[in-house]
Amino acid sequence: MKMENGVYDALALSYEDWEKVVTEVWKEPRFRADQICQWIYAKKVFDPHAMTNLSKTLRDRLIYESPLKVPIQIKTQQSRDGTRKYLWRMEDGSQMESVLLDHGGHTTACLSSQIGCPLDCIFCATGQSGYVRDMSVGEITGHFLLMEQRLGKDVGNVVFMGMGEPLLNARNVFESIRILNHPKMRNLGGRHITVSTSGIVPGILDLADFEVPVRLSVSLHAPNDALRGKLMPVNRRYPLSALVEAMRYYKKRTGERITIEYTLIDGLNDDPQLAYEMAALLDGLGVYVNIIPWNPISRGPGTEELRRSPEGRVRAFCAALTELRIEFEKRREKGTDILAACGQLAAAN
Ligand code: SAH
Ligand code: SF4
Repeated sequence: MKMENGVYDALALSYEDWEKVVTEVWKEPRFRADQICQWIYAKKVFDPHAMTNLSKTLRDRLIYESPLKVPIQIKTQQSRDGTRKYLWRMEDGSQMESVLLDHGGHTTACLSSQIGCPLDCIFCATGQSGYVRDMSVGEITGHFLLMEQRLGKDVGNVVFMGMGEPLLNARNVFESIRILNHPKMRNLGGRHITVSTSGIVPGILDLADFEVPVRLSVSLHAPNDALRGKLMPVNRRYPLSALVEAMRYYKKRTGERITIEYTLIDGLNDDPQLAYEMAALLDGLGVYVNIIPWNPISRGPGTEELRRSPEGRVRAFCAALTELRIEFEKRREKGTDILAACGQLAAAN
């Protein structure tokens, strides 16, 4: 159980932790744990003073012995299409962004897992902004709950597609998923949670064995090592052969269909021939492909200029996928006007 300076980090406690603290440490009846979890995870009340069915003693214990340290919202922006972007400040002063996406009334929360990202994909603003640190369990659950509180209702889906590589912070991400999934806590089904990865092989294997059956999304962007290594340096550590093997293991263990993310960059990875290569690489996996228009980001001086693929090339790539009978969706952009689209989140703001 996580304790720092003699206090518990309330938003990082599992249900079992709450049970233990409430019954063994505070000597209160077990149902108090349920009540506390209800305030936090169902009602999104983070101020113990407002937890009216708890005794004064218990409220004080919450305040002094297990404070609810939620991030501070320092900015919010709403896009014309309903996308909302939030900028949060953590206790140590570092900042992080997250997004709420609206699909015809269904809301998806796009969560962050790290402040920045160490993986340096050439097309991604987070990668270009550098890496600060991993987010804690409480920071991950905290920014999610606050977004739901601000929205005034529960969101249907969670995707770890904000800042950072979730499988490089797998321990905290998995623990936050356990918390969000627990029936006495947020009770969000595993199939409504997606972990997106740039291809961290050991993390994918762990996800396959993880007790909560969550969905996996793999950011592929290129079907051969030479090209992928150029776009995503992580490919040099985990080449495609190992990545595909891990995907097959995940598929076998969970039976879940894997989603492939592929963002089209002009002249770099949008040749229809690459769609054929991708089909051969992923043969038999039955994947679902998301074709994402590349969202322009500002890159450092001296770097090669990137452009999104023109519509004609996107169409040609998609036509190849159709011919190959690969199921795909051309994702519509969301929140580009407020720099809240895929890959546009950054630590420095
Ligand atoms: N690190 C994880 C999750 C965060 S990135 C990963 O890489 O999967 C979320 C998604 O946005 C990934 O599919 C990533 O490849 C994509 N992405 C990053 N930068 C982008 C950009 N500028 N335009 C479109 N998609 C981008
Ligand atoms: Fe990191 Fe994902 Fe961005 Fe790559 S695409 S730099 S892995 S956040």
